[in-house]
Amino acid sequence: ADTDLVDLVQQAADAFRAGHPGHPLTVASDPGRLVLRLDPQRVRQVLDNLLTNAAVHTPAGTPVSVTVSTTPGAALLRITDAGPGIPPDDTERVFDRFYRVDKARSRDRGGTGLGLAVARSLTRAHGGDITLTSTPATTTFTIHLPL
Ligand code: ATP
Ligand code: MG
Repeated sequence: ADTDLVDLVQQAADAFRAGHPGHPLTVASDPGRLVLRLDPQRVRQVLDNLLTNAAVHTPAGTPVSVTVSTTPGAALLRITDAGPGIPPDDTERVFDRFYRVDKARSRDRGGTGLGLAVARSLTRAHGGDITLTSTPATTTFTIHLPL
């Protein structure tokens, strides 16, 4: 269906703020509206997965930001957190089913390691993809969706 991606991000942000009050969240969007043909529930699920990761895999109080922008061919949603980062050796493997960077630490947080595998396959089902860049101080996941 035709969906305003900016509105979808704002809804995901509101839910995140209610569920994770310890993590300040900012949203910035270049376009005021960005209407795409997509499955809003599935894209919302992708956003929720990445936002939840930014909360549960970072220390309490860590800020999170979401930006919405466009390139000539795609809409880009970037979810950035302020660490602890994902080591370079793990940046492709985190998308594998059941893969967690630090198994002891992640087990404490109750994750199964499926979230990113599901998020990537849902995004690819829309003709897009998810990419990742990280340093020890910051992690950014970018959702690419074709226009
Ligand atoms: P779940 O299935 O509940 O989502 P999970 O969060 O452990 O469990 P994924 O979402 O697939 O699984 O993430 C895989 C691993 O990638 C995590 O266990 C964690 O080690 C790492 N990770 C994901 N997002 C971040 C992040 N923002 N910062 C640091 N590490 C992260
Ligand atoms: Mg997860």
